[in-house]
Amino acid sequence: KPLVAIVGRPNVGKSMLFNKLTGRRAAIVEDTPGVTRDRIYGDCDWNGREFELVDTGGIEPNTDSEMLQFMRRQAELAIAAADVIVMVTDVKTGVTAADQDVANMLLRSRKPVCLAVNKCDSVGPTNPDVYEFYALGLGDPIEVSAVHGHGTGDLLDWCVAHFPAPSEQEDEGEVINVAIIGKPNVGKSSLLNRILGQERVIVSNVAGTTRDAIDSYFENEFGKYRFIDTAGMRRKSKVDDAIEKYSNLRSIAAIERADVCLILIDAVEGVTEQDTKIAGLAHEAGKASIIVVNKWDLVDKDTNTMAEKTAEIRRDLSYLTYAPIIFLSALTGQRVGKLYERINAVANQSAMRITTGMLNSILEDATARVQPPTDKGRRLKIYYMTQVGVKPPHFVIFCNDARLFHFSYQRYLENQLRGVFGLEGTPIRLTIRQKG
Ligand code: GDP
Repeated sequence: KPLVAIVGRPNVGKSMLFNKLTGRRAAIVEDTPGVTRDRIYGDCDWNGREFELVDTGGIEPNTDSEMLQFMRRQAELAIAAADVIVMVTDVKTGVTAADQDVANMLLRSRKPVCLAVNKCDSVGPTNPDVYEFYALGLGDPIEVSAVHGHGTGDLLDWCVAHFPAPSEQEDEGEVINVAIIGKPNVGKSSLLNRILGQERVIVSNVAGTTRDAIDSYFENEFGKYRFIDTAGMRRKSKVDDAIEKYSNLRSIAAIERADVCLILIDAVEGVTEQDTKIAGLAHEAGKASIIVVNKWDLVDKDTNTMAEKTAEIRRDLSYLTYAPIIFLSALTGQRVGKLYERINAVANQSAMRITTGMLNSILEDATARVQPPTDKGRRLKIYYMTQVGVKPPHFVIFCNDARLFHFSYQRYLENQLRGVFGLEGTPIRLTIRQKG
């Protein structure tokens, strides 16, 4: 799916625009227990073309003094990950120096950039204040009002017109894009180097990235893989360390382009808060994941150690119960070769398609076994269920009253689906729609 990123100064109305654009769909019930962050991804659909929207502004808090740097990070992220970038500005404040700076970065990237001038709240002839935005060099500004929704249709038309042609995307064939994510020093570079050391690798520059992002492509007896590298993971330097605190942003850029995420956890330290955040990003982005416990060589082991560690991880990363866990050592290479079959398995599961007939017979069984909830004498009635998307599997369930569809009952149905189809390694999305 193409990815559209929204960038812009704080307070220009990015989140409101984001909500307006994603809100065009019927309400989506998002279930992300354990992840308390602003929602930054949204599925959109415009004239039948599906795409994903990411609000880069939701990622990092900012103070005035850090603003320019913050905006540059945003823009970098958008450049690395997005197919189309929407730069949002504010007609009331006009063009600022920060706008100009970011516009220059975006221009150099050669990515399609759409310039949205927000807060043009009245319909009618072009607001004369809009003309100064031509100075940014990004072409014709599009007047929008995130509050009222004017202009958002033009904006979406522009974005869709600049998506890569579908054939270009299908060229990918069965290549699985893999991102190695995790906090600093967990062993990402070591694992990547270990993997690449064993394979005949073709490295290629990723077009349009500001720093030296290099992807590594290879084929082996298990399949075709592209390991996504953000900003020179293979060549560590001091400069890299200095910006390591932005590893979350870099992880996000990698996750966006991935089919499968390897979430690295340090075997000695166990799951930390930062790990939880990074894992949450993969979960929220709907990517298939494998939990990779690295530095297994450093752990004193007896027969129970692996079971104990597994229980600990399941407890600490409770929303990732679907992700398989593998214990390995990037240093010694122990079990690194086992990754490929796991990667293939979770990639397949996240692309699974289940027929409507099959889904509804499971639904029938499930509702017979555990009655849907009632409230004040009204019972939830579930009419039917159908799959509307893959990567991750996305299901729509039609019912009489969405409010009665408690989270616990959704969880129950999810477990029933997983019980029958496995769906190992992939999150699933449930959308509840009310009918009649
Ligand atoms: P990154 O920041 O996530 O890319 O982490 P690095 O790959 O640079 O690794 C950080 C440190 O951990 C380095 O000193 C590595 O040698 C060490 N390291 C990485 N993987 C392992 C492992 O499996 N076992 C041990 N003992 N050390 C490791």
